[in-house]
Amino acid sequence: MKYWDKYVQYYIDHYSTPDVSREEGLPYLRNKLFISIFILAFPICVIAYIPSIIACIRTEQLIIGIFDTLSLLVISYIFFSRTPGINTKKIVFSATFIILSAILFAYMGTKGPSIVILLCISVLITLFQSKKAGLVSVALNTIIISVIMTMLPFKSIHVEFFLEYPLISWIGIVPNLIAFNALVVLAVSTLVDQLNESFLKEKSLQLQLKKESQDLLIAKHKAEESDRLKSAFLANMSHEIRTPMNGILGFSSLLSSPGLAQEDQQAYISIIQKSGDRMLNIIDEIMDISKIESGLMTMSIKEININEQVEYVYNLLKPQAETKGISFSFENGLPVETAVVNTDGEKFYAILSNLVKNAIKYTDRGWIKFGYDLRPANPGRETAELEFYVTDTGIGIPADRQHAIFERFIQADIDDVQARQGAGLGLYIAKSYIDMLNGRIWVESEPGKGSTFYFTLPYRR
Ligand code: ADP
Repeated sequence: MKYWDKYVQYYIDHYSTPDVSREEGLPYLRNKLFISIFILAFPICVIAYIPSIIACIRTEQLIIGIFDTLSLLVISYIFFSRTPGINTKKIVFSATFIILSAILFAYMGTKGPSIVILLCISVLITLFQSKKAGLVSVALNTIIISVIMTMLPFKSIHVEFFLEYPLISWIGIVPNLIAFNALVVLAVSTLVDQLNESFLKEKSLQLQLKKESQDLLIAKHKAEESDRLKSAFLANMSHEIRTPMNGILGFSSLLSSPGLAQEDQQAYISIIQKSGDRMLNIIDEIMDISKIESGLMTMSIKEININEQVEYVYNLLKPQAETKGISFSFENGLPVETAVVNTDGEKFYAILSNLVKNAIKYTDRGWIKFGYDLRPANPGRETAELEFYVTDTGIGIPADRQHAIFERFIQADIDDVQARQGAGLGLYIAKSYIDMLNGRIWVESEPGKGSTFYFTLPYRR
């Protein structure tokens, strides 16, 4: 079997046309079967030709000898040539045997191998081509046998064999031959169809199984990843709550130390206040997240003046930026009278202040600038929108993390070396709010140079 497979493969590689390997499923199997039949039939033809041609010369059957030789030449040509396509090879192969059988039948009757060849070739055609082609070959056989039979009463054929039986007997034999020929072709093609059907079914089941196991694997990875992030989030959360808590408890006990200087007292109170703010911030974020996750977050759309909001954020966060020695500025893209939009003011404030707070947190030198521009409606954009930006010259974000930072718990990932104070929830909350307000958020950033966060809001006055 190993050598046979090698022989088939050698033929496919060297003599068959390239269209064989391109097809898949049943057509591919049929082509491969044809090649197997062909390369088995070819040496048999060569071997069979020698005694046949000797017999033809001895019995002076010249016509049979000529057709035998012609058939061998045609079969050899299509066997070794790469030019004809696989379908042409099938047609020429079948036609050669049918013509040869017809000649043999006319000259030798049922004494020769013609009837067997005619029956076999229609079965082979059904196997390596199609049911339709098989039935066409049965029809051809019918025509060939009928033509030869109609020649009998006119005495055009002088083969002794035909003359042994009266015409009426032939009229009985021929339909039986044809009927059995058709029966075998139909039985074989039905078997092939059923095998193909179960093969396709099995293949689709295999594909389904493969897809399901892939989905399962993805779900498993997701669950593991989410589990890992949640553990990391809890670890970070505990740190985020403990740090200000320790600050509050530690410095309040220091406050009660006797003989505390006025300066130290003020410094301790300021630390306690900052720690309290930090605690409050984290509790707010947890509340927001749980509302977003449970779908309880509501919206309150009102008319708000964007310029006022931007200026409010600027004034609120300016001291923080100044403490770090960063230049801090804003720019409004619309005059105050037209800077009015219908949106949820609280959410807008939360988004903008979060982005600006992050910019301050992740910038140690340079500048921070924020503001917005009007992007009018155009063929690519149905409604006009306000495009906000917050630019900083901070530490920047590596390209492979720019997408992840908008997801929950991501900063909480303990591997995150960029992480500073914070629970990694701010951008997720901001993105959730922006989604609710029908906007988009994205970031452009280069590590070491800085980042610009953009978000849009529909401009509906
Ligand atoms: P957190 O509130 O903990 O800072 P965020 O969700 O707001 O969490 O931000 C997630 C992560 O995005 C941060 O850990 C940080 O790595 C990155 N990031 C956010 N803003 C900036 C910025 N302006 N510059 C650099 N990195 C930033």
